[in-house]
Amino acid sequence: MFNNLKILYHQGKQYIPDVTKAKVPGIFRGRPIITKVQVDEEKLVNICPTGAITRSPIFIDLGCCTFCGECAIAFPDKIRFTTDYKIATNDRNALIIQQGQDVPVELNPKLIRKEIQDRFNGSLKLRQVSAGGDNSCELELNACSNVNFDMGRFGIEFVASPRHADGIVITGPITENMAEPLQICYDATPDPKIIILAGVDAISGGIFADSPALNRKFLKNHKIDLYVPGNPIHPLTFINGLLELIRKR
Ligand code: SF4
Repeated sequence: MFNNLKILYHQGKQYIPDVTKAKVPGIFRGRPIITKVQVDEEKLVNICPTGAITRSPIFIDLGCCTFCGECAIAFPDKIRFTTDYKIATNDRNALIIQQGQDVPVELNPKLIRKEIQDRFNGSLKLRQVSAGGDNSCELELNACSNVNFDMGRFGIEFVASPRHADGIVITGPITENMAEPLQICYDATPDPKIIILAGVDAISGGIFADSPALNRKFLKNHKIDLYVPGNPIHPLTFINGLLELIRKR
């Protein structure tokens, strides 16, 4: 008994008491800040492996960014990544960070369907579809349910069957081979169902965006309820994005 108490004392709390205010280590790359310092824009744009940076003025599209950090390493006076992990949104345009912008990425309440807040606040079951994913975002989604992040305390859980789910979470760039299984899974999920894109590959195709092996037609035909940037995503980005999506307003 005494030994157990000693272990508990040394280990501290195993869960994050408040996932909305948790701090992450300084090496984490979250929302970037782009200063107005003049740089060689062509050189900066060409550094980016995914074309996430546009010029005149400089923008970074978090839906395309792999958070490799190369731009910030080469141009530290121009680009700095903060540890702000609350970068999930339901507005694709909100993922585009402008020069001089230093405000949080937020959800647009007008784009949230009413039935989402009415039905899923307090209980949301999700089916995950790895559509050509590399298992990185999938691992982080698993971590959301571990004792540390404990997403289940909010009633948010992954389920084995789309029949039991309220929505689907897509990871990976959606390969041709996974296009039909993804559609089948979506069709098997009861209405009203939500669609979440987790990770840069799902949002834009990432480094595979121009690959002929992809078939992303599914995304053209359906409204996306939440974009969760990251490569891979951080569990705190995913959980905070979901909490904002389903909370009663
Ligand atoms: S961190 Fe993002 S914007 Fe910068 S070079 Fe990498 S992918 Fe491009």
